[in-house]
Amino acid sequence: MDDARRALREHFGFEDFRPGQADAVAAALAGRDALVVMPTGAGKSLCYQLPALMRPDLTLVVSPLVSLMQDQVEALERIAPGRAGLVNAQQDAATNRAVLERAGAGDVRLLYVAPERFASPGFLEAVRDIEVGLFVVDEAHCVSQWGHDFRPDYFRLADAARWLGARALLASTATATPQVAADIAARLGLRDPVQVATGFDRPNLSFAVVPCRTAADKRRRLVSALADPAARPAIVYAGTRADTERLAGELGDELGIEVLAYHAGLGREARAAAQRRFMAGEAEVVVATNAFGMGVDKADVRTVAHASVPGSVEAFYQEAGRAGRDGLPARALLFAESRDKGLHVFFIQRAEVDDRAIAQVARRLLASGGGRYDAGVGELGDDPERVRAIVGHLARAGVIQPAPSPVDRVRGRITGAFDGRAQAACRSSAGDAQRARWRQYRSVWAFVEGSACRRTTILRHFGDRSQPAPRVPCCDVCAPELVPAAPAAPARARALGGNGGGGDLDAAIVEVVQAADPAVGRTRAVEILRGGRSKVVQKYAYDGLPAYGSFAHLTSGEVLGRVDELMAAGRLVSTGGRFPKLELSEAA
Ligand code: ADP
Ligand code: MG
Repeated sequence: MDDARRALREHFGFEDFRPGQADAVAAALAGRDALVVMPTGAGKSLCYQLPALMRPDLTLVVSPLVSLMQDQVEALERIAPGRAGLVNAQQDAATNRAVLERAGAGDVRLLYVAPERFASPGFLEAVRDIEVGLFVVDEAHCVSQWGHDFRPDYFRLADAARWLGARALLASTATATPQVAADIAARLGLRDPVQVATGFDRPNLSFAVVPCRTAADKRRRLVSALADPAARPAIVYAGTRADTERLAGELGDELGIEVLAYHAGLGREARAAAQRRFMAGEAEVVVATNAFGMGVDKADVRTVAHASVPGSVEAFYQEAGRAGRDGLPARALLFAESRDKGLHVFFIQRAEVDDRAIAQVARRLLASGGGRYDAGVGELGDDPERVRAIVGHLARAGVIQPAPSPVDRVRGRITGAFDGRAQAACRSSAGDAQRARWRQYRSVWAFVEGSACRRTTILRHFGDRSQPAPRVPCCDVCAPELVPAAPAAPARARALGGNGGGGDLDAAIVEVVQAADPAVGRTRAVEILRGGRSKVVQKYAYDGLPAYGSFAHLTSGEVLGRVDELMAAGRLVSTGGRFPKLELSEAA
């Protein structure tokens, strides 16, 4: 490894390896497969760029984004002129041919390639005669359906690498849990890979989970968390577009400063303006959906607050990680209300695709004829996310082979029949996806409701076994003062408290669940307690129940929060199914 250190100084001008890099470089030099999991910015590229410059053969790097490849090739041009090249569809054929020739002659040592190239027989023939040492799959979570990106092109890479006789495969990603890592290793057929997972700790971030009883309680704690000017600039992530606007208004009023809203439903100009003003420090707080963040690189964000529990620990950590990029102390706060669980369950159930939905998309695609398909996403179904998921299942089952296409279309070749076997393969692929969603749900709630150090929990979630070494108070478990206080609550909200009148509400909920016939679900129970007048209430005479209307002075969110707490505490259980009903648990 002395050679590698020397080359590191010589080519890159870096003093030493960062954690994990030396192990990955050693594996790549020895021709062993490797799986490198490090967060964004930790230095994954070096793990293959350095060995590529030292090895006698060609390194192929597959990366999903042309712009990323261009940046890397330009950066390498300064480090090792003439040694890196790029083959893609944006370049004309003559340029691509010339690059391949220089690779064949041994001048180019790092060849960046878009994944769809491996579907081109011409390209495969051209590289076949070149001796390939490393075959690198960057952003390798794209091969795993469990990651948040899913690219059918990535399936073929394992075959292509072996067909080209690559000595070793190196897969790198920032977003793998041990689960996803295992899936990547399996799908790429990595052989006894060296596993490097490190660098996930953010020593300057404090973490706190803030349990909130109700929406009002949450708002007060958010205000108290952001009131100190030192807590800003701040990004507040909200669950829905409507929530961003509502919360931005409320926070703006209570903090007495300008608070921006940001979501994908705003026009392009409004979004750009909001982003620009936040970046420039003209407005210090932005309430946003997860659409905010791509390309936002503001170094001095002091607080990232989640106003609702995100769908996965990965999403949480990625967003929370936008705090404190400058290395100075910053906070990540997660405000959790148990009713967020209901929202997660709703989204998971909505994502479920059944055989009929799959068959419908398959039929429409196969009807195109001529061995190809080309359709608008909107023509295939109402929900673009579902359509894309189904296209992914069909690709997995070998029915189609997607080609690069504009965001609102799907295009590609038809490669198989939609027969019984394909149908079964799609069903199993859809089942995998659904199980993965439930797994994410369980992990994020285990994190929220857990009582172990938050930082350690996060590191272990990403497979990082290192000892956390925070330079700031660690988390709400290790340093409880990190939880923002709830300022004195107005009288009405106090009626919810455990030792205030809360007992009455709990008793009334239990009474409704017990007495309602037919049985009711969460929202109907809330409607009854608040004295709602829907047709269903009248039809089943729910308005004759003793507790009917007894909590009309509370918001539905407040009552629902209490129902969900009774569920979380195990006193009420749900029957599950399409129209879940509440029941008293055995224990109750
Ligand atoms: P990743 O792909 O993991 O997101 P990059 O490979 O783009 O990260 O590297 C992030 C930055 O860290 C780059 O600017 C790179 O030059 C720098 N870097 C990588 N390794 C080292 C090192 N050993 N010493 C100093 N800087 C490094
Ligand atoms: Mg990278």
